[in-house]
Amino acid sequence: MTLAGMHYASVESALPGSSGLPRVIHIEVAMKIGIPDFHLTGLAPSRARSILDRVTCALQMTGIRLNHRTVTLNVEGESDPRFQDLLDLPVAVALLQALGYPLPGLPGARTAFIGKLALDGQVRLLQMPGRILAMADLLGFHSVLSHFPKTVPGIAHSSCPGQIVSLNALFSPQRESISVRELESGKTRSSALDAAANSSRFRFSWKAMRAAVAASAGRHSLLCLGPPGSGKTTLAHVIYDLLPVANARECREIYLRLPESGGEAIRRPFRRPHHSVTRVAMIGGGSPIRAGEVTEAHNGLLLLDELGEFRRDVLQSLREPLDSQIVHISRGSDREVLPCSLWFVATANACPCGMFGSAEICKCSAGAVRQYQARMLGALQDRMDMELFLENSESVVSMNVVQVWYENLMQSQKDRWEDGFRYNAEVLDVESFLFEDSHTDGEFDRITAGLSNRKKHRIRRLARSIADMSGAAWIQMEHLLEALRYTSAWNLTSQENAKVPSRSD
Ligand SMILES: [Zn+2]
Repeated sequence: MTLAGMHYASVESALPGSSGLPRVIHIEVAMKIGIPDFHLTGLAPSRARSILDRVTCALQMTGIRLNHRTVTLNVEGESDPRFQDLLDLPVAVALLQALGYPLPGLPGARTAFIGKLALDGQVRLLQMPGRILAMADLLGFHSVLSHFPKTVPGIAHSSCPGQIVSLNALFSPQRESISVRELESGKTRSSALDAAANSSRFRFSWKAMRAAVAASAGRHSLLCLGPPGSGKTTLAHVIYDLLPVANARECREIYLRLPESGGEAIRRPFRRPHHSVTRVAMIGGGSPIRAGEVTEAHNGLLLLDELGEFRRDVLQSLREPLDSQIVHISRGSDREVLPCSLWFVATANACPCGMFGSAEICKCSAGAVRQYQARMLGALQDRMDMELFLENSESVVSMNVVQVWYENLMQSQKDRWEDGFRYNAEVLDVESFLFEDSHTDGEFDRITAGLSNRKKHRIRRLARSIADMSGAAWIQMEHLLEALRYTSAWNLTSQENAKVPSRSD
C-alpha cells in the first residue's frame, strides 16, 4: 500500500502476554525513500535494537537491502519479553511487504508469523511449538508460519501451510503443513479408574468417596477436615486423579501454560501453593500483570493445604475467583481479566489441638471447636460446597461402586442441557433443580432458613449431584439430607437437630 510516497504494510503475530494469556501482536511498517533511518516503537529500546540488528542483517544476507530508506516500525500489543525475539520473522515479513514482496501464506487465511532469525537469514527452530500453535488456534489464526520441528507432540499434521526454514523459503510455494486442530489428551477415564482400583490411595470410606466423586465429576468445592495422618491430602490426590478428561479447548488452554513435555499426555494442572503465599501470588497482579496460582490452576485443581494457616486477605481474595471463575486485576492503567476455572480443595485440622475426631483425646471444648472452624472458614464460609470430616474407617467402598456414581453424574450433566455439558456446581439456574415433591421442597426451605442465598444454592446444586450419582430424575429427601451432611453451616447452626438419619451402607 502506498500513501503519499509512503509504503505501508502490516502483519500479525501471536505471543504470550506477561500474564500468560495469548495475545495478537500487530506489526506495522511505514517506509519512504530518504535519509537512512530506522525506528522500532512499542518495545523496550534495547529489545527493539537487537531485533532490528538481526532482521537487517538477515535480510542483507538474503540479498535484500534497505538503502536510502526511512523506516518506522511499530509493534502493537503487550507481550512477555521472554518471547519477543520471536518477532524477528514478522518484522522481516512486514518490511518485505513494504518493499513490494507478496505476503506469504494462503490467500484469505489469517496467518501468524512467529520466529527468531539467525544472521544468515535462517529461521531458528521454534521452541515450544505446541504452545505456540495452541495459542494461535485460540486466537483464531488459520495458519502459523514458522520453523517447526518434524513432529510436534499432540499435534497432527494436516492442511495448513506452516513450515518455513529461511527467509528465502518465504517465497517458495512448497511448505510442509501443520494443523493446530488436533491437540489430544492422553488420559482416558477408564484407565484412571482402573489404576485407582489397584491403588492404596483409594481406600476411603463411603462418605469420603461420595464427596470425592461430587468434587471431581460435579466440580463442587471441598474442605477436608481431620487430624494429622487421616488422609486429607491423599483424598485431594484422589480427586485430582478422578478429574474428567480435558476437552479440546481445555487441552489448548492447558498447553499454553505447561512446558512442553515431549510426547506426554496432557494432564490437568495441580497447584498447591504454600500457606505463606501472598495475595498477588495467589490471584495475580504486579506490573506488568502476571497470573497467580488460581490462573495457573485454570482447568485443573487448586489445593490449599492447612487452610487455617493462610493469610486472611489471601482467603478473602479467593471469593471472586471461586464465584465467577475469572479474576479481575487492575493495577494503575493496566487491566486484565484472567481465567480460573478450577476445582477447589482445602484441608485443615478440625480443632485447635488437631486431635478432634481422632483416637487421641481432643483438649478443646465444643464451643472452641465451633469457633475455630467458623474463623478458619471465615471469608470462604459460603464458598465451600462440602465440608467432610475424615474418620479412620474400617469399611472401604469398592471401586466398582465409585465408578457407577461417577458415570451416572457425568452422564446426567451431559444429558441435562441442550447446549452442552455443564458441571452442576456451575449452574446458575438452580431453580431448575427440582425436588421430588412439595414435602422435600418445604423441608429444604425450613432447614436452610437463615442461610444466605448463595449457600442455599450451593446446597441445592450439591443435592442435585448426589441425586445424579443415583441416577434419580428429581432430588429426593435422602439426597437433600446427604447434601446437608456436608455443610457445616447446617452443622454449626443446627447441631442439636437430631432428625438427620445416619446412613449405614
Ligand atoms: Zn482439639
